[in-house]
Amino acid sequence: MADRAAWLQVLGQVADRQGEMGLVSCPDCGRDRLEVRYIVKPETRIGYVLLWCGACLHGISVSRVRAPEGAPTWSIDDPASVDGVPDFARYE
Ligand SMILES: [Zn+2]
Repeated sequence: MADRAAWLQVLGQVADRQGEMGLVSCPDCGRDRLEVRYIVKPETRIGYVLLWCGACLHGISVSRVRAPEGAPTWSIDDPASVDGVPDFARYE
């Protein structure tokens, strides 16, 4: 089983490879079903990020992050920003 540190490492890889999520595999199950969502203030791009695996439904939530340049974001003020996010098990 992975831990939060492993997931944080994966988050760094994901941030470096925008749009190429398939090249990063899940630290828990090894499949390439990772999804990331930056939920931030549009003006500052600061907020939190959800990173999860759509196959095994593990992941993390990290607060006080800035969305990388060019990464798609969802507004923290929009209740629909978490629409479609599955109920995944979060490493604390
Ligand atoms: Zn997985």
